Amino acid sequence: MSPLSSDQTNTLRVQLQRRQAELRQLVQDELRRSQGGRYAELAGQVHDAGDASVADLLVDLDLRQLDTEIKELRAVEHAMQEMRTGGYGLCTHCGGEILFERLRVMPHAQMCINCQAHHEKTHVGGTTPSM
Ligand SMILES: [Zn+2]
Repeated sequence: MSPLSSDQTNTLRVQLQRRQAELRQLVQDELRRSQGGRYAELAGQVHDAGDASVADLLVDLDLRQLDTEIKELRAVEHAMQEMRTGGYGLCTHCGGEILFERLRVMPHAQMCINCQAHHEKTHVGGTTPSM
């Protein structure tokens, strides 16, 4: 069960939806601009594709900025899915609750502040956590 009230969840859901729309637009624009439309269709596939395939493809294209945005987009969509299935607001690492104050700043956060800090210390420059 999520420790958040329904009001809090609704607030965060709106934020996630807004961010998702923003990121999708950003990704689409950037693909169109940098590849002259050649890879624009990629943007439409990002949602369904696996982490590795999309990441690999984008590294090939040397679109690291885009890679960052796509990772955030995926995290946002993951959070939205968790909102539906009930795991939202819980740390994927320790299972503790993520405070609303943290979620308000970063609604797609998947780890509590303690685990995130620890993770960043031990995984600097590493690969994306797979959740
Ligand atoms: Zn934690």
